Amino acid sequence: MNKLKAIDQETIKVLNQKKMLQLLYRNKKLTKQDISQALNVSIPTVISNVKELIEQGFLEESGVAESTGGRKPTIIRFLPDSRYSFGVCITRGKVRIIIVNLYFDIIAERAINIPEELNDFESLILDIKKEMDSILSDFNIPKDKVLGLGFALPGTVNEKKMLLENAPNFKLKNICFKDYKNTFEYPLYIENEANTSASAEAFINFNNTSNSLVFVSITEGIGTGIIIGESLYKGYNKRAGELGHMTIVKDGKQCNCGKKGCWELYASQKSLINEYREVFNIENKSLSYFLNLAIDDIKAKEILDRYLDYLAEGIKNIILMLDPRNIIIGGEISNYKNLIDLELKKKIFKENSLYNDDDRKVLFSNLDGNAAVFGAALMPMEKLFFISDKVI
Ligand SMILES: [Zn+2]
Repeated sequence: MNKLKAIDQETIKVLNQKKMLQLLYRNKKLTKQDISQALNVSIPTVISNVKELIEQGFLEESGVAESTGGRKPTIIRFLPDSRYSFGVCITRGKVRIIIVNLYFDIIAERAINIPEELNDFESLILDIKKEMDSILSDFNIPKDKVLGLGFALPGTVNEKKMLLENAPNFKLKNICFKDYKNTFEYPLYIENEANTSASAEAFINFNNTSNSLVFVSITEGIGTGIIIGESLYKGYNKRAGELGHMTIVKDGKQCNCGKKGCWELYASQKSLINEYREVFNIENKSLSYFLNLAIDDIKAKEILDRYLDYLAEGIKNIILMLDPRNIIIGGEISNYKNLIDLELKKKIFKENSLYNDDDRKVLFSNLDGNAAVFGAALMPMEKLFFISDKVI
């Protein structure tokens, strides 16, 4: 009985401290009275918990606020540099490694070029470890200030089993990250890159996302991450959000996944570039070259228009399936918002009796291509800030 009671008190303390950290994280600084009122807890509870959080380095006392009568209240400030987190994002040809503080300021960044087909995953892990160690020594970051390391991966991920189950575009299957737990000295987390992007949007753009969103990551393929309420929705087999493989053209082009006519074969960045290269018979030109061409050239414009038709079809299906508040488009194409925004929305919100642009928004990611890697770095932080299970 006594033991039970002790656990309960400990749990309450942990919950209170998480709530206080969340509150101060968002508000940056508050007085103890503010905290007490916002969380509906007593001043002595605030005082004892704040003291502990100061000892742990998360908060500091930072001057006094104007008094409303009586003693001037002390200001408590959140310290974003009290901890750091590593994020690693694996994309085709490149691995990005970043370390951020708790406000996602990038303290350091490294990149490793990798072959198209990743045959030797183990040596890649060792290369990543080497870069991380060199970042810590170059920037004088003590190891005990690192919360952990998160991987954003290009495929289906079972985060509980620490398994990258399948990444067809990378020809990777059943990569078990438990094997690498001892390589790193910090807690290790893995998740699909579209899912980490969705989490990053919901957490970092807290006020804009209303916590009901679908992130559409447009790269080599298309991945989608779904946030429902405050949780990432992954489904029974952890495979929800493989919407890049929904059928958009019956008996269409053959996909790596085994199906035909998948959305990503018509609406990924790769499919757009391939279409341009074929029609214009130009190799090695980038997305920006072709999209700039589409400003004046009628042929290039037609290709973009057809591409946006396919992109819109998939997004319309997502709206009907999940009714999200926001759809956020990420990937390099989101840098060309000005060129595609209007036309894409016209196609998505073409008059229908089911939805319109008043009840939802289609947005472009404002995280400058960092959504996936920020979401990776967010995973080790989640234990600090979140109370409930973040995956359903
Ligand atoms: Zn497919």
